Amino acid sequence: MIAAQVFEPIAHESVVQAVVDKIETMIVEGVLKGGARLPSEREMAEAFRVSRPKLREALQILESRDLVTVRHGDGTYIAELTGRAMSPAMLALYARHGEAFHDFLEYRREQEAFATRLAAQRATAADRERLAAIRAELEAAWQADDREAEQEADFRLHSAIVDASHNTTLIHMMASVFDLTRRDIFYNRDLLRSIDGTGRALLDQHLEIIDAIEAGDPERSERAARDHLDFVEKSIHRGRELQRRERRARMRLNSVD
Ligand SMILES: [Zn+2]
Repeated sequence: MIAAQVFEPIAHESVVQAVVDKIETMIVEGVLKGGARLPSEREMAEAFRVSRPKLREALQILESRDLVTVRHGDGTYIAELTGRAMSPAMLALYARHGEAFHDFLEYRREQEAFATRLAAQRATAADRERLAAIRAELEAAWQADDREAEQEADFRLHSAIVDASHNTTLIHMMASVFDLTRRDIFYNRDLLRSIDGTGRALLDQHLEIIDAIEAGDPERSERAARDHLDFVEKSIHRGRELQRRERRARMRLNSVD
Protein backbone atom coordinates (compact mmCIF):
# COMPACT_ATOMS: atom_id res chain seq x y z
CA MET A 1 0.00 0.00 0.00
CA ILE A 2 1.17 3.50 -0.69
CA ALA A 3 2.09 5.41 2.44
CA ALA A 4 -0.34 8.19 3.17
CA GLN A 5 2.60 10.57 3.66
CA VAL A 6 3.14 10.86 -0.14
CA PHE A 7 0.03 12.98 -0.22
CA GLU A 8 0.99 16.45 0.88
CA PRO A 9 -1.65 18.62 2.43
CA ILE A 10 -3.29 20.99 0.01
CA ALA A 11 -2.42 24.48 1.03
CA HIS A 12 -5.68 26.12 1.80
CA GLU A 13 -5.47 29.37 -0.05
CA SER A 14 -7.43 31.87 1.89
CA VAL A 15 -10.32 33.62 0.28
CA VAL A 16 -8.80 36.98 1.16
CA GLN A 17 -5.54 36.09 -0.57
CA ALA A 18 -7.41 34.90 -3.64
CA VAL A 19 -9.19 38.26 -3.92
CA VAL A 20 -5.91 40.13 -3.45
CA ASP A 21 -4.24 38.02 -6.17
CA LYS A 22 -7.12 38.54 -8.55
CA ILE A 23 -7.09 42.33 -8.20
CA GLU A 24 -3.29 42.47 -8.41
CA THR A 25 -3.33 40.44 -11.62
CA MET A 26 -5.88 42.81 -13.10
CA ILE A 27 -3.62 45.76 -12.24
CA VAL A 28 -0.54 44.07 -13.75
CA GLU A 29 -2.48 43.28 -16.91
CA GLY A 30 -3.65 46.85 -17.22
CA VAL A 31 -7.31 45.88 -16.93
CA LEU A 32 -7.58 48.05 -13.84
CA LYS A 33 -5.83 51.31 -14.57
CA GLY A 34 -4.48 54.00 -12.27
CA GLY A 35 -7.21 56.33 -11.07
CA ALA A 36 -10.01 53.88 -11.89
CA ARG A 37 -12.76 53.68 -9.30
CA LEU A 38 -13.70 50.20 -8.13
CA PRO A 39 -17.34 49.18 -7.83
CA SER A 40 -18.97 49.36 -4.40
CA GLU A 41 -18.02 46.86 -1.70
CA ARG A 42 -21.40 45.20 -2.02
CA GLU A 43 -21.08 44.79 -5.80
CA MET A 44 -17.53 43.48 -5.57
CA ALA A 45 -18.36 41.04 -2.78
CA GLU A 46 -21.21 39.72 -4.92
CA ALA A 47 -19.04 39.46 -8.03
CA PHE A 48 -16.28 37.60 -6.16
CA ARG A 49 -18.88 35.61 -4.18
CA VAL A 50 -17.12 36.40 -0.91
CA SER A 51 -18.42 38.00 2.25
CA ARG A 52 -18.05 41.75 2.69
CA PRO A 53 -15.67 41.45 5.68
CA LYS A 54 -13.35 39.23 3.55
CA LEU A 55 -13.49 41.71 0.70
CA ARG A 56 -12.74 44.58 3.07
CA GLU A 57 -9.77 42.66 4.43
CA ALA A 58 -8.45 42.13 0.88
CA LEU A 59 -8.82 45.86 0.10
CA GLN A 60 -6.93 46.68 3.30
CA ILE A 61 -4.02 44.49 2.19
CA LEU A 62 -4.02 46.19 -1.22
CA GLU A 63 -4.11 49.57 0.51
CA SER A 64 -1.15 48.64 2.72
CA ARG A 65 0.74 47.83 -0.51
CA ASP A 66 -0.19 51.26 -1.90
CA LEU A 67 -2.07 49.67 -4.78
CA VAL A 68 -5.45 51.16 -3.95
CA THR A 69 -6.56 54.23 -2.05
CA VAL A 70 -9.72 54.30 -0.02
CA ARG A 71 -11.40 57.71 -0.03
CA HIS A 72 -13.86 57.61 2.78
CA GLY A 73 -17.38 58.43 1.78
CA ASP A 74 -16.33 58.25 -1.87
CA GLY A 75 -14.98 54.86 -2.83
CA THR A 76 -11.90 52.79 -3.54
CA TYR A 77 -9.57 53.79 -6.35
CA ILE A 78 -6.67 52.10 -8.06
CA ALA A 79 -3.58 54.13 -7.14
CA GLU A 80 -1.64 56.06 -9.78
CA LEU A 81 1.11 53.52 -10.12
CA THR A 82 3.22 54.45 -13.09
CA GLY A 83 3.69 58.07 -12.17
CA ARG A 84 4.69 60.67 -14.66
CA ALA A 85 7.42 59.84 -17.14
CA MET A 86 9.01 63.21 -16.40
CA SER A 87 8.87 65.80 -13.66
CA PRO A 88 6.86 69.00 -14.34
CA ALA A 89 10.11 71.01 -14.55
CA MET A 90 11.51 68.61 -17.14
CA LEU A 91 8.30 68.80 -19.12
CA ALA A 92 8.35 72.59 -19.14
CA LEU A 93 11.97 72.46 -20.27
CA TYR A 94 11.07 70.04 -23.04
CA ALA A 95 8.16 72.15 -24.20
CA ARG A 96 10.47 75.18 -24.57
CA HIS A 97 13.06 73.27 -26.57
CA GLY A 98 11.92 72.01 -29.96
CA GLU A 99 14.69 69.41 -30.33
CA ALA A 100 12.99 67.23 -27.73
CA PHE A 101 9.87 67.05 -29.85
CA HIS A 102 11.60 64.92 -32.46
CA ASP A 103 12.96 62.56 -29.79
CA PHE A 104 9.54 62.20 -28.28
CA LEU A 105 7.89 61.28 -31.58
CA GLU A 106 10.74 58.99 -32.57
CA TYR A 107 10.28 57.09 -29.32
CA ARG A 108 6.53 57.03 -29.65
CA ARG A 109 6.71 55.84 -33.25
CA GLU A 110 8.76 52.78 -32.32
CA GLN A 111 6.56 51.96 -29.34
CA GLU A 112 3.44 52.27 -31.47
CA ALA A 113 4.93 50.13 -34.24
CA PHE A 114 5.79 47.45 -31.67
CA ALA A 115 2.37 47.65 -30.01
CA THR A 116 0.52 47.51 -33.34
CA ARG A 117 2.55 44.49 -34.50
CA LEU A 118 1.72 42.65 -31.28
CA ALA A 119 -1.93 43.69 -31.50
CA ALA A 120 -2.16 42.10 -34.97
CA GLN A 121 -0.88 38.86 -33.47
CA ARG A 122 -2.72 38.89 -30.18
CA ALA A 123 -5.99 40.85 -30.40
CA THR A 124 -8.82 38.87 -28.83
CA ALA A 125 -12.47 38.96 -29.85
CA ALA A 126 -13.09 41.63 -27.19
CA ASP A 127 -10.17 43.74 -28.49
CA ARG A 128 -11.55 43.47 -32.01
CA GLU A 129 -14.97 44.51 -30.84
CA ARG A 130 -13.46 47.57 -29.17
CA LEU A 131 -11.53 48.46 -32.34
CA ALA A 132 -14.68 48.12 -34.44
CA ALA A 133 -16.51 50.49 -32.08
CA ILE A 134 -13.66 53.01 -32.36
CA ARG A 135 -13.73 52.73 -36.15
CA ALA A 136 -17.39 53.77 -36.03
CA GLU A 137 -16.55 56.68 -33.70
CA LEU A 138 -13.74 57.88 -35.98
CA GLU A 139 -16.03 57.81 -38.98
CA ALA A 140 -18.92 59.50 -37.17
CA ALA A 141 -16.64 62.26 -35.86
CA TRP A 142 -15.32 62.84 -39.37
CA GLN A 143 -18.82 62.97 -40.85
CA ALA A 144 -19.94 65.43 -38.18
CA ASP A 145 -16.73 67.48 -38.59
CA ASP A 146 -16.35 67.32 -34.80
CA ARG A 147 -12.66 67.89 -34.04
CA GLU A 148 -12.97 67.21 -30.35
CA ALA A 149 -14.67 63.87 -30.98
CA GLU A 150 -11.97 63.08 -33.55
CA GLN A 151 -9.22 63.66 -31.02
CA GLU A 152 -11.01 61.58 -28.39
CA ALA A 153 -11.47 58.69 -30.80
CA ASP A 154 -7.85 59.04 -31.93
CA PHE A 155 -6.68 58.77 -28.34
CA ARG A 156 -8.98 55.84 -27.66
CA LEU A 157 -7.69 54.01 -30.74
CA HIS A 158 -4.05 54.28 -29.66
CA SER A 159 -4.92 53.15 -26.12
CA ALA A 160 -6.94 50.21 -27.46
CA ILE A 161 -4.03 49.11 -29.67
CA VAL A 162 -1.63 49.14 -26.73
CA ASP A 163 -4.12 47.14 -24.65
CA ALA A 164 -4.51 44.67 -27.53
CA SER A 165 -0.73 44.13 -27.52
CA HIS A 166 -1.22 42.25 -24.24
CA ASN A 167 2.25 43.28 -23.14
CA THR A 168 1.86 44.60 -19.63
CA THR A 169 5.10 46.61 -19.64
CA LEU A 170 4.06 48.34 -22.82
CA ILE A 171 0.61 49.09 -21.40
CA HIS A 172 2.08 50.81 -18.36
CA MET A 173 4.87 52.64 -20.21
CA MET A 174 2.55 53.94 -22.89
CA ALA A 175 0.17 55.33 -20.29
CA SER A 176 2.70 58.03 -19.43
CA VAL A 177 3.60 58.67 -23.06
CA PHE A 178 -0.09 59.18 -23.88
CA ASP A 179 -0.37 61.48 -20.93
CA LEU A 180 2.20 63.79 -22.57
CA THR A 181 0.32 63.67 -25.86
CA ARG A 182 -3.00 64.27 -24.22
CA ARG A 183 -1.79 67.35 -22.39
CA ASP A 184 -0.43 68.82 -25.65
CA ILE A 185 3.06 69.04 -24.17
CA PHE A 186 4.88 68.65 -27.45
CA TYR A 187 2.41 69.84 -29.96
CA ASN A 188 -0.99 71.26 -30.18
CA ARG A 189 -3.37 68.71 -31.62
CA ASP A 190 -5.61 71.47 -32.93
CA LEU A 191 -2.71 72.76 -34.98
CA LEU A 192 -2.26 69.29 -36.44
CA ARG A 193 -5.83 69.15 -37.68
CA SER A 194 -5.94 72.76 -38.85
CA ILE A 195 -3.81 72.00 -41.89
CA ASP A 196 -5.84 71.38 -45.03
CA GLY A 197 -6.38 67.71 -45.81
CA THR A 198 -4.74 66.48 -42.64
CA GLY A 199 -7.98 65.34 -41.01
CA ARG A 200 -8.85 63.11 -43.96
CA ALA A 201 -5.31 61.69 -44.10
CA LEU A 202 -5.36 60.94 -40.37
CA LEU A 203 -8.69 59.17 -40.72
CA ASP A 204 -7.38 57.03 -43.59
CA GLN A 205 -4.27 56.16 -41.58
CA HIS A 206 -6.30 55.19 -38.53
CA LEU A 207 -8.61 53.01 -40.65
CA GLU A 208 -5.62 51.34 -42.30
CA ILE A 209 -4.17 50.54 -38.85
CA ILE A 210 -7.48 48.98 -37.77
CA ASP A 211 -7.81 47.02 -41.04
CA ALA A 212 -4.28 45.68 -40.71
CA ILE A 213 -4.86 44.52 -37.12
CA GLU A 214 -8.18 42.96 -38.10
CA ALA A 215 -6.44 41.15 -40.96
CA GLY A 216 -3.97 39.81 -38.38
CA ASP A 217 -1.05 41.05 -40.50
CA PRO A 218 1.86 42.09 -38.23
CA GLU A 219 4.06 43.59 -40.99
CA ARG A 220 1.28 45.66 -42.47
CA SER A 221 0.19 46.80 -39.00
CA GLU A 222 3.67 47.86 -38.01
CA ARG A 223 4.14 49.75 -41.26
CA ALA A 224 0.77 51.47 -40.89
CA ALA A 225 1.64 52.65 -37.37
CA ARG A 226 5.05 53.94 -38.44
CA ASP A 227 3.62 55.75 -41.46
CA HIS A 228 1.01 57.37 -39.23
CA LEU A 229 3.53 58.74 -36.74
CA ASP A 230 5.84 59.87 -39.56
CA PHE A 231 2.93 61.76 -41.05
CA VAL A 232 2.10 63.36 -37.69
CA GLU A 233 5.68 64.57 -37.30
CA LYS A 234 5.85 66.03 -40.83
CA SER A 235 2.48 67.72 -40.41
CA ILE A 236 3.47 69.33 -37.15
CA HIS A 237 6.62 70.73 -38.74
CA ARG A 238 4.54 72.05 -41.61
CA GLY A 239 1.99 73.54 -39.22
CA ARG A 240 4.66 75.33 -37.25
CA GLU A 241 6.25 76.67 -40.41
CA LEU A 242 2.87 78.01 -41.58
CA GLN A 243 2.35 79.67 -38.20
CA ARG A 244 5.76 81.31 -38.36
CA ARG A 245 5.11 82.67 -41.83
CA GLU A 246 1.72 83.93 -40.76
CA ARG A 247 3.23 85.73 -37.79
CA ARG A 248 5.96 87.32 -39.87
CA ALA A 249 3.49 88.49 -42.49
CA ARG A 250 1.29 90.02 -39.82
CA MET A 251 4.23 91.84 -38.24
CA ARG A 252 5.14 93.30 -41.60
CA LEU A 253 1.56 94.36 -42.16
CA ASN A 254 1.46 96.15 -38.79
CA SER A 255 4.75 97.94 -39.35
CA VAL A 256 3.72 99.43 -42.70
CA ASP A 257 1.21 102.11 -41.74
ZN1 LIG B 1 -3.49 58.72 -34.29
